Amino acid sequence: MSQNVRVRFAPSPTGGLHLGGVRTVLYNYLFAKHHNGKFIVRIEDTDQTRFVEGAEAYIFKTLEWCGLQPDESPLHSGPFEPYRQSERKPSYKKYAEELVSKGLAYYAFDTAEELEQKRKEIPNFQYGHATRGSLKNSLTLSKEETDQLVNSKTPYVIRIKIEPHQEIKFNDLIRGEVCFDTTQVDDKVLLKADEMPTYHLAVVVDDYLMQISHAFRGEEWLPSAPVHIFLWQYLFGLDKMPQWAHLPLILKPDGHGKLSKRDGDRLGFPVFAMDWLDPKTNETTQGFKEKGFLPQAFINMLAMLGWNSGIEQEIFSLEELVDKFSLERVHKAGAKFDFEKAKWYNHEWIKKLDASTLLLDVKNQLSSANINIEDDEKLTTIITLVKDRCTLLTDFLDQTKYFFKTPENIDLTAIQPKWDEKKTTFFRQIIAQWHNNFSSTAVELEQEFKALATTQEIKVGELMMPLRIMLVGGKFGPGVFDIATILGKDETIARIENVLTLLSK
Ligand code: GLU
Repeated sequence: MSQNVRVRFAPSPTGGLHLGGVRTVLYNYLFAKHHNGKFIVRIEDTDQTRFVEGAEAYIFKTLEWCGLQPDESPLHSGPFEPYRQSERKPSYKKYAEELVSKGLAYYAFDTAEELEQKRKEIPNFQYGHATRGSLKNSLTLSKEETDQLVNSKTPYVIRIKIEPHQEIKFNDLIRGEVCFDTTQVDDKVLLKADEMPTYHLAVVVDDYLMQISHAFRGEEWLPSAPVHIFLWQYLFGLDKMPQWAHLPLILKPDGHGKLSKRDGDRLGFPVFAMDWLDPKTNETTQGFKEKGFLPQAFINMLAMLGWNSGIEQEIFSLEELVDKFSLERVHKAGAKFDFEKAKWYNHEWIKKLDASTLLLDVKNQLSSANINIEDDEKLTTIITLVKDRCTLLTDFLDQTKYFFKTPENIDLTAIQPKWDEKKTTFFRQIIAQWHNNFSSTAVELEQEFKALATTQEIKVGELMMPLRIMLVGGKFGPGVFDIATILGKDETIARIENVLTLLSK
């Protein structure tokens, strides 16, 4: 690619970041890094009515967690500062005025009440070619009347003037040629009464000023494309326009419609990247992070929702994704979200990562249950033993806590039906034996255990499960002698004794 690649993610800070939003970030990032380009985050906060406290900070925290750091953003200085549109307010008005002077936009003075009245009178009212001739704007008023209203500071907006029956075409990097008939396109507001631009004007002006080469965004923005193309054509020239790619939607698991937060609530899985505390309702929506996902798995799963590598491999690190990513392999059709598959990715990543990489996450899981571990070496050994059994990071709590705390619940019902005196004798004796000499390896402990079982003529298979329940509390966990080695002599003996006492009651 000869051109300097500069891409942008341009979120409006209106709430938590949906996984579709993170995927847009990811594809932007992968494309930029693949082409040694720059990834820019621009905050599109011109709609003050939709502004939500904390949403911008949340976006940056999410990007940090995902490891998708921007090169330029409100938090990462760059040559086109500021990167928050509300701070760029003075730069937009002149472009709207330029369009007015070219006859491609106009002043509209209609009040909110007047427009409301029109909406009541005309079904599906749109401010556009069919209605603007009967509304209060600089197309229907004389020049003197218009000047007088502007000079007397009557509030007005600037609207784009879209002519009907025109064909607007552009080449989408995913969809190929896309054509629109302008007849259905309304005269969008470009500049509001407070001189704040709307999204449509601001996105085009900033993509131009920030020298954006490629603009990737969700398919839901496709209907806005004709307005943007129009603005590009008349303000800056189509040769300067970024190349567009409208990314496929992420669909509900049944494939019917766009995946929404409500689907997640209904079906019991997260849709946001991280926990989002809505400041208005004070409600927290669980995120993938808090559900127990690794960022590596989350990113990997998202990359594959709408793109394929062309090879069988499914597990990719971020570096590998950067290397392999190409827009040609992004699908046109929407991608169905499958939570079981998302968990599969996480499980694969837990298996793949070293125990030492998982250490901090596991410590956090344990400390949430007030188990604070300082012995990193011991915890690392434990993680190595149990990690293949964990699908989510939250699974580590149950899979590791019994190493540090005597199990609270012991599944005696699994032992009792087949329990007899012979087994009591066996366990009493193994305690005595281990009391005198507790071998340091799992292999030796197992040999001693089996030898005693043979001497006492008990099937070793009938003793293993009771031993596991004595040490762990239930029928789970890695090799039982590995567990015993880590628990050590005193704790192993104490746990066996405890259960023998319970069984004798
Ligand atoms: N501000 C828009 C959003 O909230 C950006 C859309 C675009 O990338 O053009 O997603």
